[in-house]
Amino acid sequence: MKFRTVTAQEITAAVKQLFMDCNYYIGGDIMDALTKARDQEASPVGRNVLDQIIENDKIAAAEQIPLCQDTGMAVLFIEYGDKVSVDGDFEEAVEEGVRQAYRDGYLRKSVVDDPVFDRVNTKDNTPAILHTKIVKGDKIRITAGGKGFGSENMSAIKMLTPSYGEEGVKQFILDTVFAAGPNPCPPIVVGVGIGGTFERAAQLAKKATFRPIDTHHPDARYAAMEDELLESINRMGFGPAGLGGNTTALGVNIETSPTHIAGMPVAVNICCHAARHASTEI
Ligand code: SF4
Repeated sequence: MKFRTVTAQEITAAVKQLFMDCNYYIGGDIMDALTKARDQEASPVGRNVLDQIIENDKIAAAEQIPLCQDTGMAVLFIEYGDKVSVDGDFEEAVEEGVRQAYRDGYLRKSVVDDPVFDRVNTKDNTPAILHTKIVKGDKIRITAGGKGFGSENMSAIKMLTPSYGEEGVKQFILDTVFAAGPNPCPPIVVGVGIGGTFERAAQLAKKATFRPIDTHHPDARYAAMEDELLESINRMGFGPAGLGGNTTALGVNIETSPTHIAGMPVAVNICCHAARHASTEI
């Protein structure tokens, strides 16, 4: 079997570029949604906030400065081809890319080494959170995002049982967003993971926040649920920056997975308007 070889240096360079890019340049799907929301926002204060967010994002891109001071914890989804080998330590190459991006890109280092007791800043924003999947092929696809915790902290998971049905799923998602209120820096992107196990649902919810918001779940029933939830959330009235208005969310993305006969886990991962992610293929 013929393997393609990628060097550790190539991985590091790609990861570094992704984290700098996603912190400087807001995605086209988010900018389009912000612009559309600006035109449709009923509240003058809400329109003003959206103008400021759009201007902020333009300045960040033009001057290559972070579009938010919280440059996030580094999260990566990696699809690793089964016919590619890395010359070196793959995980260390990724961590080095994160290290270099946050150092050379002047991105805030936000990671502490111990969650409860020491809480000492690691000073280079590592370790990153890696979700690696082996796929067919000789390429490595990397999607990277900086996850701010103002919105991460508002996320939730619930182990629903099947009897809750569609209505129970929707209610939990809406309850989670309502409880979050103005805290996650709206307008938000709501990532939902349904199915799998406890940890798979949470991982899917995160992955959902990385999916472009101008896409839908391939199953029409879930696609309809995405649209319905978005409408319901925007009727809550929190609005841009939580100052009132009809733009509380820009998108709702649902990802699903087969699950156990006795379960229906639902995870809601909330992402702020600084929805940062970028992808590349090596
Ligand atoms: S939640 Fe998002 S927009 Fe708000 S401070 Fe954190 S990263 Fe920035």
